Amino acid sequence: MGHPEKAREFTRDIERTHWHDQALWFVREKRDRAAKSVPEWEELREQAAKIKSHTMSRLDRYLEQFEANAQAKGIHVHWAEEAEAHNRIVLQILQDHKATLLVKSKSMLTEECGLNPMLEQNGIEVIDTDLGERIVQLRHEHPSHIVLPAIHLKKEDVSNTFHQHLHTEKGNNDPTYLTRAARAHLREKFLAAEAGLTGANFGISETGGVVVCTNEGNADLGASLPKLHIVSIGIEKVIPRLQDLAVFTRLLARSATGQPITSYTSHYHGPVEGGEMHIILVDNGRSALLGNPTFSESLNCIRCGACINTCPVYRRSGGHSYGYTIPGPIGSALGAFKDQKAHRTLPYASTLCGSCTCVCPAKINLHQQLYDHRQEIVKAGLMDRKKETALNLAGWLFKHPNLLGFSGKVVRTLVPRLPRFLVYNRFNPWGEERELPEMPSKSFKELYRERKRGRP
Ligand code: SF4
Repeated sequence: MGHPEKAREFTRDIERTHWHDQALWFVREKRDRAAKSVPEWEELREQAAKIKSHTMSRLDRYLEQFEANAQAKGIHVHWAEEAEAHNRIVLQILQDHKATLLVKSKSMLTEECGLNPMLEQNGIEVIDTDLGERIVQLRHEHPSHIVLPAIHLKKEDVSNTFHQHLHTEKGNNDPTYLTRAARAHLREKFLAAEAGLTGANFGISETGGVVVCTNEGNADLGASLPKLHIVSIGIEKVIPRLQDLAVFTRLLARSATGQPITSYTSHYHGPVEGGEMHIILVDNGRSALLGNPTFSESLNCIRCGACINTCPVYRRSGGHSYGYTIPGPIGSALGAFKDQKAHRTLPYASTLCGSCTCVCPAKINLHQQLYDHRQEIVKAGLMDRKKETALNLAGWLFKHPNLLGFSGKVVRTLVPRLPRFLVYNRFNPWGEERELPEMPSKSFKELYRERKRGRP
């Protein structure tokens, strides 16, 4: 199923769709207020884009510098060309330490690599420790958002899940009660785990350390309590200097959730006393993306989720409708590059309104990328036949303004007079769940002329 079919499933629950839309819009508005509170916000975005472009243009050099500096701090550095190699390396490290329980946090990269099922098949218990990720893990679901993994769920859903798996009181939906239950459950796992795996928001080339930003402090427990700490990091996460970090930390939390800074911004520059630290640098298609001048800008992403929160399509279709690890505009761009055929519907999951580009702290031209992906999909002959016919018809109509005006008049006059079943049926995706907008009494041309003549 492509995005339209899965989105249709999501929107069948009108109340949930509306609630999801509002919840994300609340976060988007918080982001706007936080951004406006920083007078030099646009300069920061400009600076972030420049640092990223500079780093990408010399990525090989910065990665080697990162590796050398990390090794000098006693960290083991591994390189993984694809997801399978990454998973094998993690398994090998865990088996070498006879670890059977791994606590994991803050890593969409391990989702991308499909690490959990592979480790579980090899007898290793994996516990996701971000609250949202643990909730979706218990439900055997994938995160529906990169920052808010369980945003598709209401507190009643969480209560049912916890009652089933953590034996909390049935029907108790109190968020504090549920959070405390999750905390007690996760503490036991943290204390028992032989290994912790974290992702990383940034790798700093000049120091060889990594930085992890969280709000729950779970990455700190996972990295500090067990003696073994594994870090999975995409190669694009490297930045040149420690001072560059200031630009990104000021942008990241404000763009993500509207907070001035995440509750924890933790630096890991070596193993805990008597322990071992491993960093796995993962490519998994990133080099190919870097080599493509049209789409390489999407590597500048710092995974704040702002483009996802603002996207009118994401807000109304939910993260699972994308069928790719990362949803929303950035996920559509990355997914379409990764597997054009499998994700051919994703670039169309956008209104091309440009809101994603406007909020992106790294100034990625997201809507342009989605537009370019559409061109590539058409060229590759992968476009949906029905959509192609409809677009060709629309294109032809736009080239004939008189006919366009006439057809507008026909629709305006005819649709309100048609029997309801002809408009509101399963063949009309718009009319199936919602009332059609009220038809204007006059054409745009007439309205435009009136306006020009100075009438209201
Ligand atoms: S593309 Fe930009 S807005 Fe979207 S997640 Fe990445 S950095 Fe944030």
